[in-house]
Amino acid sequence: MYEPDKFDRKQNGTEGKRTGFRLYADGVSREEGNRFLLGYLKLLFSIFGAILVSGAVLRFFILGPVSCSSLNSKEIAPPVIDGELAMKYAQGNFDLGPKVFRTEGAKKSAEWIAEQARMIPGFDKAGRVRIIPPARGEYNVEITFPGKVPEFVIIGAHHDTKRLFSVPDFAGANDGASGVGALLAIADALAKYAQEQILPCTVRLVFFDGEEALYQYTETDGLVGSRAYVDMLKNDYSGLRCRAMILLDMIGDKDLHIDLAGNSTPALAKVVMAEAKAAGYADKFSLGDTAILDDHYPFLQAGEKAVDLIDFNYGPDNRYWHTGADTMDKISAESIKTAADVALRVVWRLAENGFADL
Ligand SMILES: [Zn+2]
Repeated sequence: MYEPDKFDRKQNGTEGKRTGFRLYADGVSREEGNRFLLGYLKLLFSIFGAILVSGAVLRFFILGPVSCSSLNSKEIAPPVIDGELAMKYAQGNFDLGPKVFRTEGAKKSAEWIAEQARMIPGFDKAGRVRIIPPARGEYNVEITFPGKVPEFVIIGAHHDTKRLFSVPDFAGANDGASGVGALLAIADALAKYAQEQILPCTVRLVFFDGEEALYQYTETDGLVGSRAYVDMLKNDYSGLRCRAMILLDMIGDKDLHIDLAGNSTPALAKVVMAEAKAAGYADKFSLGDTAILDDHYPFLQAGEKAVDLIDFNYGPDNRYWHTGADTMDKISAESIKTAADVALRVVWRLAENGFADL
């Protein structure tokens, strides 16, 4: 479908409480019991009806007519991201230094991510984290927050950094750490949310290793972690279903403009655009027409729905990309928050609509 060289870039278990009428006990006949039940039910319905009607009338006079969606708005509002916290995580990940695939740096990065997740207040009750046993030398980290339905949406980012022979200590602020910061800040927000409410669906935050090609993108070089993860999904017979994959890559640029990869699933890209607009970020998003070889691609190949939120215009003429100029001073809390907020809004919207948008 897409030749790599054609890519622009590198590439109830709980039973409801039973109210238990004891109708036939104490010598009450079946008929009497039925009459009693009918009367009781009528009374219940009229009380309930009166409450509903008076509530609606009161609400109408106080608030004016309201639509269904605004009535539920409190319920469906996704958590919002703490941008400063996302920056702190990004800084911490950046400070680890180079995280080149199949080196100690990438392994340490995975261990650091898992440790950060475990340190989030309330995380032990809300979610779980694991470093997935490597299949091809990759250290993918997966954080899962269970929701109302076991069907899940993945928000992904890569945590490895490009091997640059010219810049041996290249640590990747935007190209690596920004996505890690976004996902860990999302984990923090979801852990808080889960103390109060159940998530509308299960959310998996996946940190991929081996996104960067060691030489150049081929079937076996680059996207190693995401390919391994997709293979794992294919071999998972638990019946759990991935409904969508939202990738965040290079979303930290101070001068943020996310151009959705042209090879994203159109229906999913449409939801991203709608939610970006609803969040007040319409000017920071557009639908791109360039296919991009990124971690969403193995998901597309496997028939999953995926979208790539990427700002592939980093510095004048993209000069900060894969160079020593990709440092923390080029990225901002606000930009990471923009992408992360939209990603969470998309998850909530999809789940609340029963994934009917896709
Ligand atoms: Zn890169």
